[in-house]
Amino acid sequence: MSSRDSKRSADLLGRLLGPAEPEVSCDECFEQLDRYVEIERDGRDAEAAIPGMRAHLEGCPACHEDHDSLVALLASDAASPES
Ligand SMILES: [Zn+2]
Repeated sequence: MSSRDSKRSADLLGRLLGPAEPEVSCDECFEQLDRYVEIERDGRDAEAAIPGMRAHLEGCPACHEDHDSLVALLASDAASPES
């Protein structure tokens, strides 16, 4: 294996992994989701507050669904402050 080949496989790996972007795990995502959604709702920069959350939500259908239902829950809370 020449050094040229190993450089090529490193490039390929880099492409597969995408840019060096942080990404949380499902456990971290679950722990931070409430906070993340509240930050989003407040119109602040949730990705800056919790780096890697957005990347994880985009790549993980399960957490994406949790996120969507939490957003819906907060939205319905806001719509009926009396309850
Ligand atoms: Zn996940």
